[in-house]
Amino acid sequence: MKNIDDKWRLIAIDGVAASGKSTTAKKLAGELGYHYLDTGAMYRAVALNLINNRIGKDDNYAVISSLETVDIKVECKNDQMKIYLGDEEVSEKIRANEVSKLTSQISAIPEVRRMMVELQRALVKSNDFIVEGRDIGTVVFPDADMKFFLTASVEERAKRRFAELKEDENVKTLEEIEKEIEERDLRDSTRTTSPLLRAEDAIRVDTTDMTVNEQVKHLTRLIHTEMRKESQVYAGE
Ligand code: C5P
Repeated sequence: MKNIDDKWRLIAIDGVAASGKSTTAKKLAGELGYHYLDTGAMYRAVALNLINNRIGKDDNYAVISSLETVDIKVECKNDQMKIYLGDEEVSEKIRANEVSKLTSQISAIPEVRRMMVELQRALVKSNDFIVEGRDIGTVVFPDADMKFFLTASVEERAKRRFAELKEDENVKTLEEIEKEIEERDLRDSTRTTSPLLRAEDAIRVDTTDMTVNEQVKHLTRLIHTEMRKESQVYAGE
C-alpha cells in the first residue's frame, strides 16, 4: 500500500454510478500526466468471466472457485487503460448492460473484493495515479493524497447513461435506466463488505449541473490549490 512519505501521488475518485467518475478521472489523468486505473473495469472482468463460463451468481462455490483461474491483466498507460481476460482484450465487452448488473451483484462477495483490492494495490506502485471506484478512498488507498466523492441526481445520471447506450441496447426507456441505477446504488451502498461510502476526508462534488469539461476544470483547480498549499508547507512559507 502507499506510504504517506512516498513521492508518487495518488488521487482517489469514488462515487455513485454514472456520476461522471470515469470520464473525469481519465481526462484529469491526461491533463496531469498521471496514469489512470478504473477499478470498476476489474470487477466487470470478473463478472464477464462468469458469464463466459456460464456460472450463475448464486452458485457461490463456483463463483469463488472461478477466482483461482481467472486471468485478469490490466495495462495502464497515462489516460489509457486496457483490460484483458486471458489473451482477449475485453475493454469494450465489459460495458454491456448485462455485465453491469451482474458486476454489482458479485462485487458484494468478500473473496472477490479481497482479490481485486490486492490486484489494485499491486498495480498502483511508484507512479502517479488517478484511481477511480467505490471504495478507493475508504479501503484500497485510505492514505491517498487527495480524495473526491462524485454525486449527481439520479435523473441526470439516467439521462447521461441513456445518451451513451448503443443502438442494440437502445430498447430501454429513461425510466428503466433510472430504476437500474437506483438498484445498483442501493446494492453498492448497502453491501456488508466495503460499501460505497464517502471517506471523511473526501471532497464531495455534485456534478448534476456540470458538463464534463466543467467537472475536470473544477477538480483540476482543487488539485492545484492543494499542491500549492503542500509546496508552501515544504518551503516553510
Ligand atoms: O464504475 P463501474 O460502473 O464500472 O462499476 C461497476 C460495478 O463494480 C459497481 O456498480 C460496483 O458494484 C462495482 N465496483 C465496486 N468497487 C469498486 C469499483 C466498482 O464494488 N472499487
